[in-house]
Amino acid sequence: QSFARLGLQDELIRAVEEQGYAEPTPIQTRAIPVILEGHDVLAAAQTGTGKTAGFTLPLLQRLAPAANTSASPARHPVRALILTPTRELAAQVEESVRGYGKYLPLRSTLAYGGVSMNPQIEALRLGVDILVATPGRLLDHVRQRTVNLSQVKILVLDEADRMLDMGFIRDIRRLLTLLPPRRQNLLFSATFTDGIRKLASGLLHAPVLIEV
Ligand code: AMP
Repeated sequence: QSFARLGLQDELIRAVEEQGYAEPTPIQTRAIPVILEGHDVLAAAQTGTGKTAGFTLPLLQRLAPAANTSASPARHPVRALILTPTRELAAQVEESVRGYGKYLPLRSTLAYGGVSMNPQIEALRLGVDILVATPGRLLDHVRQRTVNLSQVKILVLDEADRMLDMGFIRDIRRLLTLLPPRRQNLLFSATFTDGIRKLASGLLHAPVLIEV
């Protein structure tokens, strides 16, 4: 298998080659084509399986055709929202987004708690295509009206089981009410607990189930 045969475009293949990856991991082989086709996904994957590239690469490709290098903030509403349980994971995921997306004209930024909101507000004001956030801080931005989620086309819940363990379910449910109903949803979780199944059944439409 090769990344090119999974349907990824040249800009992404180049970025992946620079990372030195010889071939896709099993979760990447299964998830990338399905996400490129626009399906919702329910994936059971532990850290270390390559899951981040598994959702980031196709997400970047799905946003890329409509990408726009214009400096106008109005042309960069948040179109992909990636929620993570912790700021460390958010930072790691956003670094992956930047790395894999380095040859695409897409902007990304971070919003997590424990630090000042002002730099985040400024970045959001300038416009971003991809926002990586923790649920509590994202709700702070919602309350202050410093983020607009009305154009989100792709939602990723990364390490969803940890988000539930950390008590984020109410925040997540609140955030879901702010997103447009027509969107692609990707749920990644190390375990499939009852809580995850319940969240998944309300959130996902005809999901493709991927277990590795
Ligand atoms: P993750 O499971 O997303 O946390 O990724 C675990 C590690 O695997 C990260 O350091 C990635 O850079 C690396 N990785 C992701 N995909 C591949 C691949 N296809 N080949 C080799 N390493 C990879």
